[in-house]
Amino acid sequence: MIKNTLLTVDEFCCRREHFFSQMPENSIAIFSAAKEITRSNDTEYAFCQDKNFYYLTGFNEPEAILVMLSAGASTNLAYSANPVEPTEPQAILFCRDKDPLQEIWHGRRVGFEQAKQNYGFEQAYPLSELPLKIVDLLNHKTQLLYCQGSDQVFEQQLFAWLADVKATTRQGGKAPQILQNCTDLLAEMRLIKSAAEIEIMQQVNVISGAAHQRAMKQTTAGKFEYQIEAEMLHEFAINGARHAAYSTIVAGGDNANILHYTDNNDVLVDKELLLIDAGGELAGYAADITRTFPVNGLFTEPQKIIYQLVLNAQTLAIKAIKPEMTFAQLNKMVGEYLTTELHALGILSGDLAELIASNACKTYFIHGLGHWLGLDVHDVGDYHINDNKEQQRAFKPGMIMTIEPGLYIPLSDDSVAEKWRGIGVRIEDNILVTDQGHENLTVNAPKSIADIEQLMANH
Ligand code: MN
Ligand code: MN
Repeated sequence: MIKNTLLTVDEFCCRREHFFSQMPENSIAIFSAAKEITRSNDTEYAFCQDKNFYYLTGFNEPEAILVMLSAGASTNLAYSANPVEPTEPQAILFCRDKDPLQEIWHGRRVGFEQAKQNYGFEQAYPLSELPLKIVDLLNHKTQLLYCQGSDQVFEQQLFAWLADVKATTRQGGKAPQILQNCTDLLAEMRLIKSAAEIEIMQQVNVISGAAHQRAMKQTTAGKFEYQIEAEMLHEFAINGARHAAYSTIVAGGDNANILHYTDNNDVLVDKELLLIDAGGELAGYAADITRTFPVNGLFTEPQKIIYQLVLNAQTLAIKAIKPEMTFAQLNKMVGEYLTTELHALGILSGDLAELIASNACKTYFIHGLGHWLGLDVHDVGDYHINDNKEQQRAFKPGMIMTIEPGLYIPLSDDSVAEKWRGIGVRIEDNILVTDQGHENLTVNAPKSIADIEQLMANH
């Protein structure tokens, strides 16, 4: 049984304290919740909170605004049920008010009173009071921090509020003179995971690994890709990961050579491979796991050769992960290995030294080796420390990344021997950097040829 640990209110308060400590004196930061998105007519997609907003609040409703006032920022709020010393940093939530009729139709709302109590905000108000209070909140702050470029409608609203403050000049009003993008500041915070975040990401990996096992057991020729997708989603949901973290890729045969294939509507064919790239989302955190296995449970010889190459490349990269390692170094190791082996198989031809120098494996390994993972599947955080294109940022304990080498040889590629065509393999695990080295969070999704064939034979 998988324990469903959610983050505590202390975790979110801690994050806000960390953010407060980095805010300039007498500044204000404003964040918006995500909007509901129409799927068709009057139905919406499942709500997904803005990840920065969620990171700072844990609050999971649309139509909410978080205002953070740094130490030294006085508020002119006319009233407050529980006034806080104006020199203390304050997190103020504006959210939808309780509304019995709306709640009967559309679901329960936390309401501002409960929100203040349950989420640890210093103050909370109904959203309808925001227009009355925002001018006073912005007035005489030196800087306004917000996430630029994430929500144009919200940014327009911010500029309209600033104009409202400017309109009070003759009454002594003054709008913040410095607008500061705090996207990177939050990204840096999100990049290093806390103990509680690591625990959730371990759990969602176990859930997702169980789903990959289930898919392997349920796969047979003649089934449709979407039927295997359904097995994955079932296993996520019954274990507490209600939604997939991203669109599930179930790609049989040559479909594996389409990187973001999500049609999932083809029939599975005997002797072909099936590539599944899928992970659940738990408490907002993503797993991102890929497995490739034979539809009938037994790899053909050419499939074995390509698969083992990818697996060796992945093992090579994972083993090297430790503090101060970089993606640039991992890319170099994997690039040299894959290029050398593809040359040995005759898939790449020419002078080996030249092929390595030009990183020729990129013809068949067409995407990056990995990416940060967290609240977003392609999580935030810089990969670079300078202007050059290599990802030279040093790994630090608490970072979580994917390692996902792949080789893709489309059916239409007549430059290679026929036996290789139509083979697409990716293997993807989620790795935590630790003080000692690393921990592979992907513990229960089989990936050696022997383990996969054994699991598929014994069900
Ligand atoms: Mn993936
Ligand atoms: Mn990935």
